[in-house]
Amino acid sequence: MNQSTPRQFRDHTTVRVGGPAGEWILAEDESTAREVLQKHHLPTAAERAAGKDSLLVLGGGSNLVVNDKGFPGTVLQLAFTGISAEPATNTDDDAVTVTMAAGHNWDQAVAWTVERGLTGLEALSGIPGAAGATPVQNVGAYGAEVSQTLLDIRAWDRAEDELVELSNAELEFGYRDSLLKRETINGSPRYVVLSVRFRLTHRAGQALSAPVRYAELARSLGLDPAAQEEQRRAPLAEVRQKVLQLRAGKGMVLDAEDHDTWSTGSFFTNPILPASSLPELPEGAPLFPAGTSAEGEPLVKLSAAWLIDRAGCQKGFGAELTDGRASLSTKHTLAVTNRGQATAADLMTVARAAQQKVQERFNVTLHPEPVLVGCNL
Ligand SMILES: Cc1cc2nc3c(=O)[nH]c(=O)nc-3n(C[C@H](O)[C@H](O)[C@H](O)COP(=O)(O)OP(=O)(O)OC[C@H]3O[C@@H](n4cnc5c(N)ncnc54)[C@H](O)[C@@H]3O)c2cc1C
Repeated sequence: MNQSTPRQFRDHTTVRVGGPAGEWILAEDESTAREVLQKHHLPTAAERAAGKDSLLVLGGGSNLVVNDKGFPGTVLQLAFTGISAEPATNTDDDAVTVTMAAGHNWDQAVAWTVERGLTGLEALSGIPGAAGATPVQNVGAYGAEVSQTLLDIRAWDRAEDELVELSNAELEFGYRDSLLKRETINGSPRYVVLSVRFRLTHRAGQALSAPVRYAELARSLGLDPAAQEEQRRAPLAEVRQKVLQLRAGKGMVLDAEDHDTWSTGSFFTNPILPASSLPELPEGAPLFPAGTSAEGEPLVKLSAAWLIDRAGCQKGFGAELTDGRASLSTKHTLAVTNRGQATAADLMTVARAAQQKVQERFNVTLHPEPVLVGCNL
């Protein structure tokens, strides 16, 4: 266990804001993490909502904004790593089970699978953070989501003080959502993921990707986005490279030299609305089918980036509100970025202004994607 004097969130989050923590524990092995968790039983929902939970679980800090005063409780940073693969039992010959420790860097894990010719995670290349956090918001990009290949997780249940295994179905995944996220308040989860298992595929011969689902990615690989599934596969390594290239062009791959990447990635989720209550949108507005509601009504997903842009908040918006310390990315309207000296309050100022403009122009409420601790819109 490694305890030390106050560390600042600004040094441990990708958006580089946030004050100190009362106590900071870096768990470099699972038993250290479990020791700490045993001492931090889950308070009641009311106590947690009132900010009385004294534990914040941290992975790579890439989906987290902590306020400038910091967090008075204990930060448990999960830093234990490890990855292994074994042939899956009781299933097709070409199925492989890959196990990742919670603190394993996600993009390194994806690279590891691609190098070994394992199909399934390649479109999720370049996403920052740790493997253990990926099921929390059902991480997704370029038509893929972890829920498509995740088998199960091992987690510590702070309500029951026991180790549990939760299957893909039990995690009740949705768009940027899961049981894990719904049971997390202010960065304090009921279930702390210790390891994740994915079911990937290893085919003899050339290692090909899963069918590419995202039109922009398909076209950049020379594939026809409208072709049959089997015609939408490309060599794994090529898909990874192309995804990294497309992401870098949007400031979505971490680069210390590029302030457009000092962010939490997308700041807002794409709104999903019942088809019957869609606002009046200009012709050409991107709309995507998004399944049906519990009542059986068709749902439609809108593009938050498009709404923000058309509400009058173009790339770079918000610099004028914060003396240049924070703004929307100059490459993508969905990222709220730190231009070097931003505070958490500056980020909230920019995000709030974009949210209000979209509300006024389209009557659509945007919801933040990152976890906000001690700050709100
Ligand atoms: C440049 C950039 C690009 C991004 N692109 C994408 C993208 O394409 N798609 C996408 O979905 N996301 C994207 N993100 C968001 C982010 O990278 C992911 O959500 C990532 O999974 C967060 O991992 P983390 O380890 O950094 O989590 P953290 O920020 O450390 O934590 C986030 C939340 O998860 C909880 N948590 C973390 N680890 C665990 C655990 N082991 N058990 C239980 N709870 C835990 C924390 O308590 C917190 O509530 C991007 C972020 C950045 C900065």
